Amino acid sequence: MNESTIKNKLNDLPSEVVQELISTIESLSQARDMQTLTRLVSESARRLTGADGAAFVLRDEDRCYYVDEDAIGPLWKGRRFPLKSCISGWSMLNKLPVCLEDIYLDPRIPADAYRPTFVKSLIVVPIRKSNPIGAIGNYWAKQHRPTDVEVNILQALADTTSVALENLELYAQLQQKVQDLQDRNYELERYAWVASHDLREPLRSIVTSLELIERRCGETFDSKTTEYFDFAVTGARRLQNLVKDILSHTQAIEKAVMFEMVDSREIAQESIKTICALDGANDTNISISQLPVVRSSPELLAQVFGNLVSNAFKFRSQDRKLKLEIGANADGADWIFFVRDNGIGIDPNFHERIFKMFQRLHPQDSYEGSGLGLAICKKILERHKGKIWLESQLGIGSTFYFSIPASAPGAEMTKNENRTLTNGHPTHA
Ligand code: ADP
Repeated sequence: MNESTIKNKLNDLPSEVVQELISTIESLSQARDMQTLTRLVSESARRLTGADGAAFVLRDEDRCYYVDEDAIGPLWKGRRFPLKSCISGWSMLNKLPVCLEDIYLDPRIPADAYRPTFVKSLIVVPIRKSNPIGAIGNYWAKQHRPTDVEVNILQALADTTSVALENLELYAQLQQKVQDLQDRNYELERYAWVASHDLREPLRSIVTSLELIERRCGETFDSKTTEYFDFAVTGARRLQNLVKDILSHTQAIEKAVMFEMVDSREIAQESIKTICALDGANDTNISISQLPVVRSSPELLAQVFGNLVSNAFKFRSQDRKLKLEIGANADGADWIFFVRDNGIGIDPNFHERIFKMFQRLHPQDSYEGSGLGLAICKKILERHKGKIWLESQLGIGSTFYFSIPASAPGAEMTKNENRTLTNGHPTHA
């Protein structure tokens, strides 16, 4: 049934009934499982007409399945009857509503099934008239002459139910697809991990052997041999880095780590020390503000700072001294950290892309890397129930932000911190 047909039907109904119907439609649109849906429909069907009972029936091949009911006394919940020998079945097979003032006068009624119940009168309407998949029944304990309005109300509910059932099916299919994709993703990650893990040893042998060869006879190489040899060493080292990053990515997601109270300033300082030592860079201006103690894993937090700081070094501008600032601010229930540089910057069109695996904006010969560092940061922050994002302008610099909830039990500040925690929320003192 299309929207305008539903509207025409609603025009004939009393306003309180329309209100009830609208609220049922709203609830039905949010129903995500069959049980919720059948309960909603049974209760609403009874309320809408003021009947003494209502039942929700589904077609189960050549039988009617009484899935749920809301009634003053037991009806047939959980039972199945052949389509051809019950009135819901007749309604489905004939794609028509049924109204009976005295059920025992109608030959289509299986009297034996009705005698133990309170039912004297009924209305049954099919769900999805074009090709019924179920029915909704209304039942009265005293003889009652069903009205057109009641039939229209129930039919409007049945039409809405039909849409809700389709949505439910689509939702279930979608859920299944998401699950399949997650399973496949997991398998791929396992595969990448196993392959990378097994590559580590042979790669180490290659690099060591190359070093030994160079030591033994490097001096005898002519310029071409040296060039080829350097290619081999660079390639092997790059592969080693890639393997290391793939393993780190999997570990960022899976490795069992202890979350504990961590002084984030110490971790940031340590990362900078390591990177400065590797980089040999003296010509830098680095400042770290007071940083909070947060609930984290030292290992994972060090990876986040390590990746962000090493990117700031790697992507610095050739025209100016590197300026690097690290800080954190309280924002509601989160700490927002930032790592700011005055490097080459990133085009705003790529701000989302760079957090995906293997996404790099520069060729390998300009800047080395695997394109996994930020993807690793993102996974680590997801484990903290936090986020990572950036602000950046090409040619000016970048600020990477990441959030870590401050509400973790026992969260506390470093000494001399100018912010304090109130009720688990960070506030400025
Ligand atoms: P990698 O550094 O190994 O290339 P990342 O995932 O860490 O991989 O970063 C992805 C890309 O984002 C980088 O290749 C670079 O293009 C860009 N990027 C990251 N950090 C910065 C930065 N501080 N300044 C400029 N560009 C950056």
